[in-house]
Amino acid sequence: MPTYKAPLRDMKFLLNEVFDYPRHYASLASGENATPDIVDAILSECGRFCEDVLSPLYQSGDEEGCKLENGEVTTPKGFKEAYAQYVAGGWQGLSAPEEFGGQGLPASLGLFKQEMMGTANWSFSMYPGLSIGAMNTIFLHGSDEQKQTYLPPLTEGRWGGTMCLTEPQCGTDLGQVKTKAEPQADGSYRVTGTKIFISSGEHDLTDNIVHVVLARLPDAPKGTRGISLFIVPKFLPDDNGDVGQRNGVTCGSLEKKMGIKASATCVMNFDDATGYLIGPENQGLECMFTFMNTARIGTAIQGVGPAELSYQWALDYARDRRSMRALSGKKEPDQVADSLIHHADVRRMLLTQKAIAEGGRAMLYYAARLADHMVEGHEQGDSKKAEAYDDKLGFLTPILKGFLTELGYEAANQGVQVFGGHGYIREHGMEQIIRDTKIATLYEGTTGIQALDLLGRKVLMMTQGGAVREFTLKIANFARKQLTDKRLRPFAVELLKLTAQWNVLTVRLMLAARKDRDVVSAAAHDFLMYSGYVTMAYLWARQAAVAADKLEHGGADAAEFYRAKLATAEFYYERLLPRAQSHATSMLSPTKNLMQLDAEHMAFLG
Ligand SMILES: Cc1cc2nc3c(=O)[nH]c(=O)nc-3n(C[C@H](O)[C@H](O)[C@H](O)COP(=O)(O)OP(=O)(O)OC[C@H]3O[C@@H](n4cnc5c(N)ncnc54)[C@H](O)[C@@H]3O)c2cc1C
Repeated sequence: MPTYKAPLRDMKFLLNEVFDYPRHYASLASGENATPDIVDAILSECGRFCEDVLSPLYQSGDEEGCKLENGEVTTPKGFKEAYAQYVAGGWQGLSAPEEFGGQGLPASLGLFKQEMMGTANWSFSMYPGLSIGAMNTIFLHGSDEQKQTYLPPLTEGRWGGTMCLTEPQCGTDLGQVKTKAEPQADGSYRVTGTKIFISSGEHDLTDNIVHVVLARLPDAPKGTRGISLFIVPKFLPDDNGDVGQRNGVTCGSLEKKMGIKASATCVMNFDDATGYLIGPENQGLECMFTFMNTARIGTAIQGVGPAELSYQWALDYARDRRSMRALSGKKEPDQVADSLIHHADVRRMLLTQKAIAEGGRAMLYYAARLADHMVEGHEQGDSKKAEAYDDKLGFLTPILKGFLTELGYEAANQGVQVFGGHGYIREHGMEQIIRDTKIATLYEGTTGIQALDLLGRKVLMMTQGGAVREFTLKIANFARKQLTDKRLRPFAVELLKLTAQWNVLTVRLMLAARKDRDVVSAAAHDFLMYSGYVTMAYLWARQAAVAADKLEHGGADAAEFYRAKLATAEFYYERLLPRAQSHATSMLSPTKNLMQLDAEHMAFLG
């Protein structure tokens, strides 16, 4: 079973050479302590923790899974000890505010940490990941008393958190939520209902679990406008803020599922559980979604992580395993056959994984800078700044979340293919990556819902194409500057064509949607994927520009690293980017080909 190696060279290339994070951090209030030395030390230390502690639990966690006995959930062997090390290292509070015990470092550093942890062991990383979602919600919408009670133990990692939205009848359409919250004389609420698919709903890693729950007040308006948000702790905090009386919230069962088996996915029953309102009545969804853009970047990591992991393991295998001779003549004449890596078709698969992993990482690191500014706006109470950056991120996050998780799944699939039949056998771990990755296209909004959010809300409804115009202008300005460099000209010319085409497609869809309401849903997936391929092309061109410059003027590293960057950019432009054109054609095709069959004529069985 291979292990994970933190891709620190690539991370530092993006941080220091492509996106100039040292200057970015110097411009942030939270960046005062994020000096290059400290950032370097954090990434190296986190990499070691992921390689030595989390990666060895990846396969055993999958085999053992979680167990439920007498209402208590046990995580797989080694998880408790690994979590204790995580807490002792202060990792949970890395980007949390200092006033609640955190280290107050920029949000982006938390995302880089999450990338390494999630790649080494996604199931494990979900426990602290969900807690961070709960922490962010309480930080922004909780009362002072709630913050003082819940944030210090959550920041320390002594307590965990969850996000309880989904119910049996609804996941996407949260307007159908039925869980009830009855006001009590003491200002608390009695929460009653069933939530399903709740990640980290019950486990043995922390002393307490703070559930953040969507529920309805009596007489609340129907639909999404009648949903409020509540804190429902597993144990009610006592007067000293320690774990007190057991609350009426229990785990009814664990879901049996395709992957992420070491992550406890729970059915949670709330029976007259004591809850406390967070934020204003009936504005629960708005509160819950405040940090959704950062949470979705978090889920987009689950596209990059599997591509990286599957690539690392497939590359090792392709170097070792031998089969036949390369078509262009023997490459290893002393051996019985050439290794897989000499076959063009195997290289196609490996380079697809590499281009997705490195291109996707660049997309994440680009967005993470915007997230830092947005968080700073919130922390400083500068709502104008927070909103401006939230809008920029709002356009990019469905692209990142939807496109990268779909491509991560594809990359994991290619990894199995590189192993041939052995990829299908459990001991190699390749099939586990596929199983673990699929969920990323489903939770935090399915790909279809991300696509609707992008095209329907962000592009057509909210900005009438303005979001595309603004982003493509940025890309075009960059591309124009590269036209005079002959190594970069092919990328720049292609980018200029694509930015023009992206705007034309948007206008054509806008006009078509005025006549036919189904156009948005029919075109959304192709529009999302098209947007993803163009965004990744921009980020590959940015990496190529730095690599070309470093090759010419001498870089901090061996020239091979920069040549590999240019070669991968070329592969991306010539072999993956052409897919954008098939999405362009498909998105403009008439809705008739989807809608003409009556629902009852979709199959003729029996
Ligand atoms: C392992 C796991 C962990 C999870 N963790 C959590 C958690 O911690 N907390 C939590 O609250 N939830 C969690 N979920 C729930 C998850 O977020 C939902 O499953 C997800 O939002 C999709 O909802 P659904 O399953 O009800 O699908 P549905 O909403 O029924 O969707 C089914 C299909 O229809 C499509 N669709 C739905 N509506 C539309 C529309 N209007 N237009 C076009 N297409 C549409 C969807 O894209 C999808 O393809 C988890 C789920 C799983 C499996």
